[in-house]
Amino acid sequence: MPRRTAATLATSGEVLRLIRTGEAVTRADLGRVTGLSRPAVQLRVAELLERGLVVERTDAPSTGGRPPVRLEFNAGGGVVLVAALGASRTRVAICDLSGAELDGREFAMDVEQGPDVVLPLLMDTWDELLGDRPRSMIRGVGMGVPATVEFAQGRTESARVMASWTGVVIPPIIRERFPVPVLVDNDVNVLAIGEHRGAYPDLDDLMFVKVSTRIGAGVIAGGGILRGALGAAGEIGHIPVIDGGGVLCRCGNTDCVDSLASGTALLRDLRAAGKDVKTIADVTALVRAGDAETMAMVRTAGRRIGEVLAGAVNILNPSVVVLGGDVAEAFGPLVSSIREVVYRRSTALATRRLRIEQSRLGAGAGISGCAVMVLDHVLSPEAVDETMTVSTLRRVSS
Ligand SMILES: [Zn+2]
Repeated sequence: MPRRTAATLATSGEVLRLIRTGEAVTRADLGRVTGLSRPAVQLRVAELLERGLVVERTDAPSTGGRPPVRLEFNAGGGVVLVAALGASRTRVAICDLSGAELDGREFAMDVEQGPDVVLPLLMDTWDELLGDRPRSMIRGVGMGVPATVEFAQGRTESARVMASWTGVVIPPIIRERFPVPVLVDNDVNVLAIGEHRGAYPDLDDLMFVKVSTRIGAGVIAGGGILRGALGAAGEIGHIPVIDGGGVLCRCGNTDCVDSLASGTALLRDLRAAGKDVKTIADVTALVRAGDAETMAMVRTAGRRIGEVLAGAVNILNPSVVVLGGDVAEAFGPLVSSIREVVYRRSTALATRRLRIEQSRLGAGAGISGCAVMVLDHVLSPEAVDETMTVSTLRRVSS
């Protein structure tokens, strides 16, 4: 940490960051690390204590002198409201400020019913889960939705996939009832954030690929999510494969990997081959029973996904590719085909240390990813400082 000049005095938000990360846990540490005077440290700590973001702990007295008071981030000092919307399943929860789930509920719900139906249901559920907690504890809202999202606005953009949501700007609707920061991202980005922070916190470059009803990817590059110019980064589902045979995709193009290797495509092709399959679970049962035709189709799907991923691996050079979503989770043969093709077709340098793993968090990554996304925002030094009053800032600078 560089020594600060008067012009860049550490703010309360930065003091909170130092306490949260454990870089400084006593007032004396804070003075040393920030270069702030004792009264200035005192003032910032007092603000954080008052806002419930920090608590004081005194260790049991040792035989020596008076033990210093330790400062700890107070995970119980607030809650965030989170929701991971899927095409058919939605999980709603409240989490503390460490991202731990306090209470949650899961619904089987068709998101195509549209925002007028889905959003009020989410908000009612948060209200129920909050129970008697004072609403002043709510610090923010984080949501993942199965659509491309223009992140800065929270606007959904996916006319062909989630028609009833196209162009909907979600945050203002939520803020009418919960007037706090609202962050919305696409479901796969949220899974990538959750898996990264929960299972691979030490890796900076990770690609999360969801193979489910649809195929999509979320990319962590250099430690942060890669959203691209308008939030469409990672939409690998609509990259075409070679020799697809001219299958029309719902996006209007032909031979997109999504139209050939997603859960939806597998079900369609198996039915065309005369198999009685209604759900992915039916396909899993056939694979378990060793049905040769089904196994062959699953392997072909895996090779096609691998073909597209090999290209993505060459561009992004991740340390780990995590395969999640119910199709990837159900099918060992799919995952081994993906692995085989990625290792064969990516460059040697890109695959030298590449790991291809199945998701460790499963569906839980959605909720924890939503929580991490909103907590990173509301607990950032800038956001914390913004909530401090003008009079406080004046006192601090004097
Ligand atoms: Zn397509």
